[in-house]
Amino acid sequence: MKNSRLDDPQQSLMPPLLPAYARADLRVERGEGPYLYDTDGKRYLDFVAGVAVNCLGHCHPALVAALETQAKKLWHASNLFRIPGQEELAARLVNATFADTVFFGNSGAEAVECAIKMARKYQSHIGRPERFRIITFEGAFHGRTLATIAASGQEKLLKGFGPKVDGFDQVSFGNLAATRAAIGEETAAIMIEPVQGEGGVRPASAEFLQGLRTLADEHNLLLIFDEIQCGMGRSGKLFAHEWTRVAPDIMAVAKGIGGGFPLGACLATARAAEGMTVGSHGSTYGGNPLAMAVGNAVLSEILKPGFLKTVIDTADYMRAQLVALANRHPAVIDNVRGSGLMLGLRLKLPPADIVTAARGRGLLVAVAGDNVMRLLPPLIIERAHVDEAIALLDETFAAVTPAEA
Ligand SMILES: *Cc1c(COP(=O)(O)O)cnc(C)c1O
Repeated sequence: MKNSRLDDPQQSLMPPLLPAYARADLRVERGEGPYLYDTDGKRYLDFVAGVAVNCLGHCHPALVAALETQAKKLWHASNLFRIPGQEELAARLVNATFADTVFFGNSGAEAVECAIKMARKYQSHIGRPERFRIITFEGAFHGRTLATIAASGQEKLLKGFGPKVDGFDQVSFGNLAATRAAIGEETAAIMIEPVQGEGGVRPASAEFLQGLRTLADEHNLLLIFDEIQCGMGRSGKLFAHEWTRVAPDIMAVAKGIGGGFPLGACLATARAAEGMTVGSHGSTYGGNPLAMAVGNAVLSEILKPGFLKTVIDTADYMRAQLVALANRHPAVIDNVRGSGLMLGLRLKLPPADIVTAARGRGLLVAVAGDNVMRLLPPLIIERAHVDEAIALLDETFAAVTPAEA
């Protein structure tokens, strides 16, 4: 095998690790709170937080303790048996949200897949099996499986992976008239991120979400929220839609729910989930004891009295500092957007080089669509960390040459 590989110049260029990512040249080694350390011992203020995953920062003592304790008891047993941690976390999520029931998986895409399957199954269950299409929105990101790239609808995700999974109709984000016009005989559901993440940190307005709720009710469609990025306290509420009076029928959750341990969940009302009978869905790992130990510990921290209030205070402070930053660098920064500690700086130039420059100064931030620099700090940051980040961003933007801007 090795020989034939070396004989073929095309193949020998392929590294052992599939080069599917544009990785930064930073070899991660360890983390502590909001700081990440590379293998050379260099420290970075981590305002990416594993893409909104490490909501409690790195190696939070409560999560480390939960994982260590569970690791000595039981790692995995499968869903052939009752898993007490699943029953506990499901009951707690139900208690804290609109939902009546929860299915656990291992990732965001799986949570969305479950939501898609559930919506189709619901319509079939109530005698409308012809309804299978789901309306989604431009700029959406729902994952990388075949169905979720079709739901995302972005050419760069779909290219070369055809035929595209059928059943997704996309309309422009925030356009209620276009959504209404897209509803047809085959429409089963409407799916939206209350705050678009990858698409550019764009919050949907409360009026728009209310409009979608009304449309869904009028046409007996299900309303699905993808809160994989904006949920689990990131907006300052446990879930971002709680800032509005609108509740979904189904909600996909992942990222922060496991605080760094792979975990996803699909939450639903009893009505929406009615068709999901025994044998209709499953996952070997989904909700395994390790994931549940960490998931329960994450939820305990987020639901502690005052935790979300502190997130809101820190977020208000950070937004004000970002607005001031934008005013100091008007040639580069267009505006500040986002919700809670899911914040974006829309730039007047592509953000990639500036993100690299910030990393050089010891600050990790991410890019998003629409020329946005995305800031996703862990929810446990304090004002001093915000000040540290702002100082590093100030230096970074000051060093952008006028030609670039
Ligand atoms: C990250 C993300 C997903 C996909 O989650 P994975 O865990 O990568 O499968 C889906 N939807 C949204 C809004 C996300 O931010």
